[in-house]
Amino acid sequence: MQFNEFRPEAVPPGAKETLYLDVAPLPDGEMLRLAVLVARGQAEGPTLLVLGGVHGDEYEGPHAVRTVFRELAADQLRGTFIGVPVTNVPAFEAGTRGSPLDGLNLARVFPGSRTGTPTERIAYQVGCLIGRCDQLIDLHSSGTHAAMPTLAGYYSNDSEVGRRSRAAAFAFGAPVVWGHPTVAPGRTVSEATERRIPWLYTECPGGGWLHQDTAALYGRGVTNVMRQLGMLPGDPEHEPPHYHLYGSGRIEDALAVRSSGFLLPAVRLLDRVRRGDLLGQVLGLAGEVHEELRANAAGVLIFMRTTPSVSPGDLAFMVTGEVVST
Ligand SMILES: [Zn+2]
Repeated sequence: MQFNEFRPEAVPPGAKETLYLDVAPLPDGEMLRLAVLVARGQAEGPTLLVLGGVHGDEYEGPHAVRTVFRELAADQLRGTFIGVPVTNVPAFEAGTRGSPLDGLNLARVFPGSRTGTPTERIAYQVGCLIGRCDQLIDLHSSGTHAAMPTLAGYYSNDSEVGRRSRAAAFAFGAPVVWGHPTVAPGRTVSEATERRIPWLYTECPGGGWLHQDTAALYGRGVTNVMRQLGMLPGDPEHEPPHYHLYGSGRIEDALAVRSSGFLLPAVRLLDRVRRGDLLGQVLGLAGEVHEELRANAAGVLIFMRTTPSVSPGDLAFMVTGEVVST
């Protein structure tokens, strides 16, 4: 089905269907297609878009999107659920964060281009899907070489979009929520912000394998947001978050190592640190200290590299702020 013909509203009320979205011709003559899972409720209501696999080495989102879709009772649903389990298909097939076809990171090229490289074309088509929805959920993990706590990130802004983003992030039920006052360009969530669509995204420890317990938490989170939006009966079921964090979500701002060697962390995720505290060391072959990395601000450790082998420029640690009272 060509994108121009892609109409979730063509799915009959009360039905669940898998649609395929043609994105780009591939060098081998095949078509790059995205599987799009559409469930339409009997009653009118909001449209929720849930993305998994924007990065190819993140597996909890794809599993959660498929599970939520499979278990969704369309006769209880108000509105429309649209799920894209694997958004970056070439990257998933290669098991890499970015695409092997053009070397691009899908989370940096929005709004993309209808006639550009494969990754730019995916971004363009997904941007069109974002424009159709009332709420975006983008399910990430921290990938093969890094770890982040299981969290829901949202747009912290004194506007209707910001208020609804925050409400959805708290309804999701992750143990950590992280508000961002600004959004760097190129992301699904910057595209949503431009289009005034409320959004949340998630992160979790990652590591290049599927954490089924986290995928289940993601599935409950999506269901909670559907309850919060009135798409499913009942109220969201979750504990309040243990941490409410605040700051830039731009991981490129993390402290980078300046030397090659073995990265030995001195902290764990969600540790509270003071400015100047030791975060980790880069060691040489015999254990000699090449470098010490120290916190550049007080806060909570939100990101850390988990693969010990490092080269200059590799992102190692990131500290963010904390909201004292929620
Ligand atoms: Zn990601």
